[in-house]
Amino acid sequence: MAVPQIQLNDNHSIPQLGFGVFKVDPGVTQGVVEAALAAGYRHIDTATGYSNEAAVGAAVRASDLPRDQLFVTTKLANADHRAGDFRGAYERSLAALDLDYIDLYLIHWPMPAVEKYVAAWQEFIHFRDEGLTKSIGVSNFQIEHLDAIIAATGVVPAVNQVELHPVFQERDLRAYHDAHGIVTEAWGPLGQGRWALDSYPAIAAAAAAHGKSPAQVILRWHIQHGTVIFPKASAPAHMADNFAIFDFELAPAELAAIDALDTNQRLGGNPYTNN
Ligand code: NDP
Repeated sequence: MAVPQIQLNDNHSIPQLGFGVFKVDPGVTQGVVEAALAAGYRHIDTATGYSNEAAVGAAVRASDLPRDQLFVTTKLANADHRAGDFRGAYERSLAALDLDYIDLYLIHWPMPAVEKYVAAWQEFIHFRDEGLTKSIGVSNFQIEHLDAIIAATGVVPAVNQVELHPVFQERDLRAYHDAHGIVTEAWGPLGQGRWALDSYPAIAAAAAAHGKSPAQVILRWHIQHGTVIFPKASAPAHMADNFAIFDFELAPAELAAIDALDTNQRLGGNPYTNN
């Protein structure tokens, strides 16, 4: 079954399921992304900080797929953000990817102590208006950071990419996104291996009921909440597993049981202190 497209607030759309390449070794990334494209993925999430943009671009260019059927996201590195070198960073990403444009360019972290994220956002708006990137967004922004960039520019980010999984559900942030027309993207959708996928009865029971794996149930939970996801999988079996989530549906009671697992405790990096 086809991956749904989610409409962004700038009239572009994004495949709801993609493939993430955080911690995929640069030396193997081209092969891994080629395998992901062969498995049906059409959306790749990378970042300058992952040191594998060149390999992602090589895989995209090596594929027979028309460029407009692929969606590539990359992100401003914290070092470039700190230096205020927004345009240089964008140009280096485009050169590394060796593509004509980037589909979605994100400010990777707000780094509030650096006090440059509003300036970065102003420059990102220029990138979009110049046609260098189709869409612009942010990552790891909290409500006060979103308020600040919207108040300064009037431009609402297309997405905010944040840590989000059954154990940390970002309810207040998601409500803000919904009220402002921002698409929620989940990083660490499977919890980054920080908790055992089958350790919660709500997940294990739904997996047994549908004849699916715990990972497929968790990803399906994201999909039914309207979240954009791009699980990372280096194992080919995981890559295929994560793509096969469009042939079943969780019932409202199953969704509610997973909703109830929220601890409201982030497990990954803190947007206030990662500066
Ligand atoms: P994920 O939650 O996607 O977890 C990846 C882990 O889950 C890997 O160990 C993988 O194993 C395992 N896994 C994948 N599929 C399955 C499966 N079907 N069954 C069991 N285990 C599975 O974590 P990520 O941190 O990679 O998050 C996804 C993406 O989000 C990243 O790749 C990156 O693109 C983005 N990200 C963005 C951040 C940001 O600050 N904006 C921060 C972190 C991530 P294996 O590899 O062995 O297959």
